Amino acid sequence: MDELYCVHCGRTVEQCDAAACRNARTSLEPPRFCAQCARRMIVQVTPNGWTARCSRHGETASRSHQV
Ligand SMILES: [Zn+2]
Ligand SMILES: [Zn+2]
Repeated sequence: MDELYCVHCGRTVEQCDAAACRNARTSLEPPRFCAQCARRMIVQVTPNGWTARCSRHGETASRSHQV
């Protein structure tokens, strides 16, 4: 799956300020926008991490949450 949009700011990967969005701090934060369509996702923080759901592309979970 290619990431077309930045999951933190919702801009295209080209337009995203990578220094602001791709750093150690944001790597721990749940995504706010779908990487495929830039829709706002429904984010739920769980004890193990987070899940984020796009109404069109379904659920994404943090890596630590995956079994
Ligand atoms: Zn960004
Ligand atoms: Zn989506």
